[in-house]
Amino acid sequence: MNVRSDHHELVIVGGGLAGLMAAAQAEALGVTPLLIDNGIQGAHQGLGGFAPFSGAKFSLFPAGRGLSPLVGGDGELIRRYAKICREFTQIGLSEFNVSDRQIAGQETEMAVGLAHRNYHSILLSPRRIDALLAALTRRLKRTRIIRARAKQIAIKTESRIIAVLESGEIVCGRSFIIAAGRLGGELLTMAGVTETHGKGIEIGVRFGFDTRSPVANLRKLGPDAKFMADGTRTFCLNSPGKIFHYPGLGFSLPGGIVAEADWPQSNVGILCRLPNRKVELERLLQFAPTGKLEAFSFNGSKTDLEWTAHAADLLGPDVVSRINSFIHTLVESGLIDLPSRYRVHYPLLDWHWPVFSLTDRLATAAPRIFAAGDSSGHARGLMQAALTGELAVEEALS
Ligand SMILES: Cc1cc2nc3c(=O)[nH]c(=O)nc-3n(C[C@H](O)[C@H](O)[C@H](O)COP(=O)(O)OP(=O)(O)OC[C@H]3O[C@@H](n4cnc5c(N)ncnc54)[C@H](O)[C@@H]3O)c2cc1C
Repeated sequence: MNVRSDHHELVIVGGGLAGLMAAAQAEALGVTPLLIDNGIQGAHQGLGGFAPFSGAKFSLFPAGRGLSPLVGGDGELIRRYAKICREFTQIGLSEFNVSDRQIAGQETEMAVGLAHRNYHSILLSPRRIDALLAALTRRLKRTRIIRARAKQIAIKTESRIIAVLESGEIVCGRSFIIAAGRLGGELLTMAGVTETHGKGIEIGVRFGFDTRSPVANLRKLGPDAKFMADGTRTFCLNSPGKIFHYPGLGFSLPGGIVAEADWPQSNVGILCRLPNRKVELERLLQFAPTGKLEAFSFNGSKTDLEWTAHAADLLGPDVVSRINSFIHTLVESGLIDLPSRYRVHYPLLDWHWPVFSLTDRLATAAPRIFAAGDSSGHARGLMQAALTGELAVEEALS
């Protein structure tokens, strides 16, 4: 086994947006970090993780509001988003030259008690996201980059954490930032980091209509328009029949495909936030004897949902009552016009990745191990990964 003798002040595992931003911030604070990245399978050789394969939509405030407690409030989060927009503009991405108003977005209360979350997104073409990642990589002047997979992270002594690479080589560091995307959970668990209280899970139903008119008013506000009341919300409007299935979890998790304008049908999801993901998944597994949760449906007529006993049992009484009340609110607000016959598909689930960071921080329960980007579990998204990369370094080096 080859142990690299040098001991790094900071080791960053993962060279996605979070890792790239973390490395730049470390350099800015006078530290030369070591960055380990194995690249996404099938991708080009550059750094950047999932970013080139994402929708390349950088969502500004109030998106990622879950990060506000990390920086000391909404105002500071807006300021940090603005700083990143300036940085990206300076390295040649003029798309990020947006107004203060666009950065701050707005969350408005509607008369009927619904909150409308309206944020601006900067959308990059595939060529431009590649240009951004190339520019972020080019600006790293001193960072040492190892293209390899870290197999394991282990805490050896108070000031010595190691990463075992797939080749058997070992690298040592004083502090580690795990920015390995959603794969980071495995590394953190192996290092003995426990999952902190998660964000729960969202469970609900998807209304499927034969025409576009029932959700026409909602769609006018944008394909991603989000309305919320009491922990219940609308979910982006999925194309009928085109639901992503995340493999391996035993559940069908719907992705965010937006219905194309020429589809004659329309859909809208309604999701209720439940606090304990583990408990809910265990409960739902009882309904999945084959290990895969099937999709079921029942009828709806105007605001009357013809709940079957199976649907009511599977979703639970709390979710049923919240959905019943939420659809009345949506109809009263004029956002949805429910027809006299439609289908209600269930279950609809939105997954929240495990949270490994402590509340209000990117530090984990293990000393000097920090989690950034999707690995932290605090917030998903490109802008959010970029920001948490910077914040993790500020914490690690403070
Ligand atoms: C299909 C899809 C569409 C999306 N669309 C959007 C969108 O439009 N807007 C938006 O804001 N967000 C979007 N997202 C989410 C967004 O892509 C992520 O939130 C963001 O890329 C996370 O960045 P990250 O740096 O945390 O992780 P990643 O981008 O996952 O980068 C992690 C890096 O770590 C490396 N790595 C992992 N494990 C190891 C290891 N053991 N050793 C060494 N290296 C390792 C990986 O190879 C990768 O390079 C989308 C995601 C997907 C999958």
